[in-house]
Amino acid sequence: HPHIEIDQFLAQSTGAGTLLERVCPAHVYSVGDDGSIRVLCAACLECGTCYQVAPLGVLKWTYPQGGTGVVYREG
Ligand code: SF4
Repeated sequence: HPHIEIDQFLAQSTGAGTLLERVCPAHVYSVGDDGSIRVLCAACLECGTCYQVAPLGVLKWTYPQGGTGVVYREG
């Protein structure tokens, strides 16, 4: 079960694909020749940036099973 789901129609109508491509540090998103947005969930760093910047309703984003997001450690 992918932890990122995208509403293709809404994403294309809002131009969100280009935005998602630009903000994701892991290059999870890419826009295909047909304008559809491809998502490579396995590369996600769980930083949450895409979810914060995507237009409302474009993304359904949850932590993957066993994921806890980015953890910062000293040392
Ligand atoms: Fe990319 Fe971060 Fe979104 Fe994962 S949570 S897809 S790493 S922007």
